Amino acid sequence: MVTQSAKWTIADAERVYGVSRWGGGYFHIGENGHVHVTPEPGNDNIRIDMKAVIDEIKQEGIQFPVVVRFHDVLRNQVETLNKAFRKSIEDFKYQGQYRGVYPVKVNQMREVVEEVVDAGTPYNYGLEAGSKAELITVLALNTNVGSLTILNGYKDKEFMQLALLGTKLGRKMVVVVEKYSELLLLVKTAKELGIEPTIGVRSKMTVKGRGKWEGSGGDRAKFGLTITEIIKTARYLESEGMGHCLKLLHFHIGSQLTDIRAVKEAINEGARIYAELHKMGFPLEYVDVGGGLGIDYDGSNSTSDSSRNYSMDEYVADVVYGMKEVCDLEAVPHPTLVSESGRAITAHHSCVITEIVGEIRSNSAEIDTSEKDGEHIFVKNIRYLADHFDEQTSLQELFNDASEYKEKAVDAFKLRVLSLEELGKIETLYWQIMVKLQHKYRSVDFVPEQLQELDYSLSSQYLCNFSVFQSAADTWAIDQLLPVVPLTRMNEEPTVNCSLVDITCDSDGKIDQFTIERGISDILPVHPLKPDEPYYVGLFLTGAYQDVMGDMHNLFGRLSEVHIFSYDDDPEDFYIEEFVRGSSVTDVLSVMQYNTKAMASDVKKLIDKHVASGGMNPREGVRWTDFYESCLDGYTYLKTGEK
Ligand SMILES: *Cc1c(COP(=O)(O)O)cnc(C)c1O
Repeated sequence: MVTQSAKWTIADAERVYGVSRWGGGYFHIGENGHVHVTPEPGNDNIRIDMKAVIDEIKQEGIQFPVVVRFHDVLRNQVETLNKAFRKSIEDFKYQGQYRGVYPVKVNQMREVVEEVVDAGTPYNYGLEAGSKAELITVLALNTNVGSLTILNGYKDKEFMQLALLGTKLGRKMVVVVEKYSELLLLVKTAKELGIEPTIGVRSKMTVKGRGKWEGSGGDRAKFGLTITEIIKTARYLESEGMGHCLKLLHFHIGSQLTDIRAVKEAINEGARIYAELHKMGFPLEYVDVGGGLGIDYDGSNSTSDSSRNYSMDEYVADVVYGMKEVCDLEAVPHPTLVSESGRAITAHHSCVITEIVGEIRSNSAEIDTSEKDGEHIFVKNIRYLADHFDEQTSLQELFNDASEYKEKAVDAFKLRVLSLEELGKIETLYWQIMVKLQHKYRSVDFVPEQLQELDYSLSSQYLCNFSVFQSAADTWAIDQLLPVVPLTRMNEEPTVNCSLVDITCDSDGKIDQFTIERGISDILPVHPLKPDEPYYVGLFLTGAYQDVMGDMHNLFGRLSEVHIFSYDDDPEDFYIEEFVRGSSVTDVLSVMQYNTKAMASDVKKLIDKHVASGGMNPREGVRWTDFYESCLDGYTYLKTGEK
């Protein structure tokens, strides 16, 4: 894995870590070996050094781990998507317009939604909500009357009332009917209130997306109306004198669509439904193609689950062209196009910076293995293998023998045949042999499969100050790959192989899937830790879903956040606009119904009692009381840098 090159350069680092392959033009390896951020791809005047960001975070006294948000990256993604639609519409002489919406479920953070709305205002870019709480949010935030508010998800009466309130206030609210009974409730509520709704229908598509979310399409999809139900809906509205309220056709075949062919098929099917409805006398105004625009997390530009085989421009061109082609054939007007890309808007803008707080290695400790009188034959045998390593002809045989001795030794220990010391010697000798084997097979052409796994068993585990369950839920839940790279020292050769483990007490709390040298590897090449220099790694593309899906496993709560804006006149090209404190111990305990004031008072009583009985002097008592209280107030993650 780690190649022994004559002189390591950042070109080697780029080859290994592929930062520009998954970086979307925003992330690069700088000449100084640090990760750099260019919030406007192509404009090198604004270039933010992640090391400078780390230094400023430290100066501000903010503890790691932190989520760093680059607001300009977020704005740039909103602009790029809207410009891509404008360009394709012009290129293909499409007669309709584009009115995209951002689905807030992807990242509901107020600062994120506000930034998206602001950056999207010139394009009348709107918002999408999928639940009552989200509707309540977008009602307050999407104040641009030129943009759409699309309402998906299952709805109750209150939901309908809130939507109609928006309509009354002059906003373009579209209530998308997900199941037939919702239609009846909507019509009834609208009549009661005397407010005319704008109605959409979500179609259950026969096309399935490819990838992890393919279940969002097909007959068993959870959402949407069948063709029969869509026809029934249109007829019902007509009979109620509301046929003209049916204005939008919606479909969404899944998130992270990996294959462009699924997109083309869905557009084709959707366009046909639109055209037929039109010809039946229901002239819909909008076709909403849903979300699904994928992110190239592993940088492979392929149909692997963590990638996609197309670019944003190609996706947009296929949507616009596909719709135009069908409409022209059917001689119906080109509808206004709506899309609900979420992941593609927010994924790049945030990353998690965390510090490595330690190294765990199965072969790090050694004991004296010299011969002792009366020692067990297993010890003698494995020592013989170690001492005569160079005379062994078959690496495989050597591996088998050493492994067998080690396994048998454990059994023998349990049967009280081997002493603890003897078992320790065997373990030490075993790992010495494995290290020699690893070196040896680097120079041979054919390496048996079992021996290939040696790299993994001999790799270190770097202990990372964060929780996978809070900050990278999808890596654990659905094996989503997220890029992880060191943030500094990229101009040095990474000579240590590691996997990353988090600080939760859960063996699933680890990351062992990395995109390395154009492939997926279970180990990440990193640099040896130095005693007096913190080592930082970045977990990238966390802005979509990861930021907001995390749970409180082990009571590690939300991360602190640093909001960064570019600023060309600043020597470092940025400033920290806002710092949002992460969860304190009190915050997370309160969620679990604890009363931390009462807890502090109980502990104080215990300490007081101890002082009264002479077990502690009063000054000490006060110090411990204050200490307990300050910990309740502190961050849930490890405090690093203390000696
Ligand atoms: C989740 C969702 C989206 C967003 O999908 P992305 O893949 O993040 O673009 C859009 N529309 C609907 C209906 C959704 O459920």
